[in-house]
This record gives sequence, structure tokens and C-alpha cells, in this order.
Amino acid sequence: MLPIVPIQQALLAWYGRQGRDLPWRHTRDPYAILVAEIMLQQTQVERVIPKYHAFLVAFPTFAALAAAPTEAVIRAWSGLGYNQRAVRLQAVARVVVAEHDGRMPATLAGLLALPGIGRYTAGALACFALGQAVATVDTNIRRVLVRVCIGELSAQAAACAKPAAALALAEAALPAEPDQAYAWNQALMDLGAMVCLARAPACDRCPLTAHCRTFAQLQARTLFPTGAELPALRVAEAPAGYATKPRVAKPSQPFKESNRYFRGRVVAALRAAPAGAALALDEIGPQLKPDYSAADADWLRTIVAGLARDGLAAWADAAQTRVTLPR
Ligand code: SF4
Repeated sequence: MLPIVPIQQALLAWYGRQGRDLPWRHTRDPYAILVAEIMLQQTQVERVIPKYHAFLVAFPTFAALAAAPTEAVIRAWSGLGYNQRAVRLQAVARVVVAEHDGRMPATLAGLLALPGIGRYTAGALACFALGQAVATVDTNIRRVLVRVCIGELSAQAAACAKPAAALALAEAALPAEPDQAYAWNQALMDLGAMVCLARAPACDRCPLTAHCRTFAQLQARTLFPTGAELPALRVAEAPAGYATKPRVAKPSQPFKESNRYFRGRVVAALRAAPAGAALALDEIGPQLKPDYSAADADWLRTIVAGLARDGLAAWADAAQTRVTLPR
């Protein structure tokens, strides 16, 4: 591990100058930060910002979210994708209200006991909402820490693909003082999102070049190239050879034929219906496939059954011919 204090100082100074001004960085309200963290899990910041504000207007507290019809929560999630997060978020709110008197648990263990809350989100909540010096590891944080502290071209870098190893690295690098820990975690995310990009790290505008092991490795290879490694050296370009493992193109199903695509389309059809309305499978089917026919009914019923299991839809009749959003 490198001496970490100079790295912390350089990154925190950069964050003070260039960190993103994001709305959830202006609050320590645990509820608002939870909403932001869940929205940010699979959606880009720019898309999250307007939805974050609207969601907090519609459901301003744990109690308001817990008491809302699930249908309304799923409607409010429109535009964010991965709708199951809306149901999970409401499940957390209901546990917080029912079991914690409407207040977020104040320990990492308590946060991890909430439904669907993993180590990343629990760590983010402990640090960003509860003001604790707790490490957390998302994709950006891990990438930056591995590149700076270990060197992405080192044999040891691959070990940090394991969550426990990445978390140990993040814990070793974390400032002890809570405000600095907050800024450090946010700064790592910003550097990973804005500068130390996965496929094309912009080392030429990075505040950590003087400390970064990957940068030094790449510089050394530039100075002493060995033919076969040459494509990996041009850091400013999209470095095809930069990844430590070769990229192998996998044959994949087109998204518009995927189960996730059709699940999203069913939820979109239900959202477009008036509140409380039920739609027949025969009404939903043609919205998914222009050539939908009775022969597709079992296929559609299977998709709806999956949504019902996940709390994103509900059968309106015992014969399973009509569907609603869950109430
Ligand atoms: S110097 Fe390059 S590889 Fe190292 S942290 Fe900065 S952008 Fe990433």
C-alpha cells in the first residue's frame, strides 16, 4: 500500500475544486440519501436528478413512502428503469417505519439487516447519511483505488475483483475523520466518473498522476516498450489493451428480445392505464408485439407471473386474465 495521506490530500483538494454539485450532497437526511443511492444503482446521474426531486415531493418521508400504494411508487419510478428498485425501496421504508420508529438504523449491521440493502448501500448510508467513517466500494471506487494504490497492470490487481479484497483496500485508504471520509468516498466516485474512466483514463488531467501506480506502470512501458505490449500504452486513447483481461465478445440476446425488455414494457402498459385499472392480457400483448396472438398468451402469462412474484404487478382475477399494478 502506498503512503495514503498525500493521495488523500491531492484527491480531496481536487474534489474541493472540481467535485460535482449533486443535490443529494446538500442533505444529510437519511431518507433522501437512501432514495438517491437506490436510484443511482443502475441509472446515470443526469437521469436521476429530476426523478430524485420529483420522488421526494411525492413521498417526502419514510412514513409517506411506506403508506403509499405500491402502484403510486411504481408510477413515480417511470423513466428510471429497473422498476424492482421502487418496490425494494418501499419495502425498506415499511421496515424502517414498522420496526425502527421511522428512523434509519444507526449501525452498519442494522443497515445491512434492511431488506435488499447490500454492503455498498449500507456503507454509503453509514457514511453519507449517518456521518460515519465507513468505507464503501462501487465500481468507480474500486477501479480508482486499484489503479492508484496497486497498479492495474500488477498481478495483485486481479485479487481486488473479490468484494472482500476491494473492501479491505477501501478501508485501508479511508480517512479516519468522518467529514473527510464523506468527501473521500464522494471524490473517488467523481474521479472514477469524470477522469479515471474505465476504458480511457484521462491521466493528463488527473490530480493523482504523481502517486498513481498504474500511471507509473504505463509510463515505464512507454519508455521501455516491449513490442507485444505496445497497444496497452496509449492511456489517453481508448486503450483496447488496457484492461487486464482480454475482452471477448460474447454472443448476446438483443435487448428488445430479452425478458427484461418485455417486463419493462408490461409495467409501462400498466402505468399508462388509469390508476386502479386492470388490463386484460389481450390488451397488453399487442403493446409488446404487433403480431401478438392467442398463441402468445402463455408466454405473456409467464412474464406477468414473474412480475407478480417481484411485487411489480398483480393478478386482478383468479383466472389470471387481467393484470394491475399492485395496490
Ligand atoms: S493517473 Fe490515470 S490511471 Fe491513475 S488514477 Fe489518474 S486517471 Fe486513473
